[in-house]
Amino acid sequence: MSKAFEELMPYLDKSMALQTARSLFEWDEQTMAPFEAADYTSKVIGIISDEYMKCLINDDVRKLIKKLKDEARQDKLTDKEKAIIKELDKTFEQLESIPPDEYRAFNELTSISNRAWAKAKKDNDYQVFAPHFKKIIEYKKKFASYRAKKGQSPYEVLLKDYEECLGIKELDIFFDKIKQEIVPLLKQVSKKSDTIDKTYNFLNYDIDKQKEFCKYLSGYIGFDFNKGVIAQSAHPFTLQLHNHDVRITNKYIENNLESAMFSIIHETGHALYEMNIDDSLTQTLAGTGTSMGMHESQSRFYENIIGRSKAFWTPIYDKLVDTYPENLKNITLDHFIKGINKSEPSLIRTEADELSYPLHIIIRYEIEKMIFADEVDVDKLPELWNEKYQEYLGITPTNDADGILQDTHWSFGEFGYFPSYAIGSAIASQLYAKIVEVMPVEEYLEEGNLTPIREFLRDNIHKYGTSKNTNQLLKDVTDEEFNADYYVNYLKDKYEKLYEL
Ligand code: ZN
Repeated sequence: MSKAFEELMPYLDKSMALQTARSLFEWDEQTMAPFEAADYTSKVIGIISDEYMKCLINDDVRKLIKKLKDEARQDKLTDKEKAIIKELDKTFEQLESIPPDEYRAFNELTSISNRAWAKAKKDNDYQVFAPHFKKIIEYKKKFASYRAKKGQSPYEVLLKDYEECLGIKELDIFFDKIKQEIVPLLKQVSKKSDTIDKTYNFLNYDIDKQKEFCKYLSGYIGFDFNKGVIAQSAHPFTLQLHNHDVRITNKYIENNLESAMFSIIHETGHALYEMNIDDSLTQTLAGTGTSMGMHESQSRFYENIIGRSKAFWTPIYDKLVDTYPENLKNITLDHFIKGINKSEPSLIRTEADELSYPLHIIIRYEIEKMIFADEVDVDKLPELWNEKYQEYLGITPTNDADGILQDTHWSFGEFGYFPSYAIGSAIASQLYAKIVEVMPVEEYLEEGNLTPIREFLRDNIHKYGTSKNTNQLLKDVTDEEFNADYYVNYLKDKYEKLYEL
């Protein structure tokens, strides 16, 4: 190990421990902590966060990063060390670029703004949120400008925080392709959506039975209960402390069979990524998924490509029917498969089906791009939102609560994040095209054998952590960089068959 890297280790270890503590509090807050705990626990979290900042952002670490970047250029570091220095440099730059007083003011603003958003959504009154939203946008523009390279737009800076390989240029091409191919397909499909009956899905499904079946599904896919747990929360999520402690949550709705099942498959996809990070990388800065987009590719691969296929359900559908015989005894496997793939344009992104989903993302992307290019007035955003829903999905929200106020992300200042969801679906399709070339996926699924698929992803994607970026991984696995054609072809093929177009 290089001498400079050895000197850096105590800083890395301490910041990792503090980060782990912070994550545990986050987990606790979302799952078990009583409602009023935050009033006082926030003080503890504040102190831990300050210590984390001090441990990482200081002159000693700055000097060591500079030295180690030189050593990396001279090829004096191992791949693992290079990966860690790259992540450290990124984190350092992000944290250091913002003056502490502005950072504090912004954090106060986001908590006020998030509360205003919740009230605005509840009362269906965009104007309650708009003044805070304007301030949030100003801060984000300023923060992005601190880090922008010459000629780089603020929105590009934000996008690259989530997916370093794809900027505005690449995303414009990606989303244009989807608009051209998927908008007309969705219009055709929605004319025939009445041909698929899905009423069975909205009968009463006992929550305890749902929990049991979801646990079974997660284990069936490969979740290791010696290295992970499942809890309940308002919104499903995955959180990892290291590769031996990966936690997922789920949400159960009594009159919706699908919701919890596909959420758990989705989160299990995220969890497998984190559980399969190589032991040599876990508990380091490089010991996590390489990007938001790649992470979403793993969850969406299992949720949509595997989890909504007939082959996946063939060996286990009887078990589902046996769990709820009164609701499902007359629903055949073919009927169920059509039901879980039914597509209908809807207003709410989180409930959208696989086909209409990317259009929800395009709308947010186009609006964010306009906001950061100063092309739209914040007061005019609800109108713009509604116009785009009409244009791409053929429906118009009747109120802002179901329109522009539906997602919480903007109230926290999270911009540039939405595209990762669509990027994830596209990467999943690209990987799938390769996987079916190298193994008989359908046959394996029909036998109930998911091990070869899991091992393929572990050995080609998961174990590398952040030591390879999205395009490097894709190039090594599929022989080409990100290519949206696979996604468009996958959707067209699947939905033309399903709806006999
Ligand atoms: Zn996800």
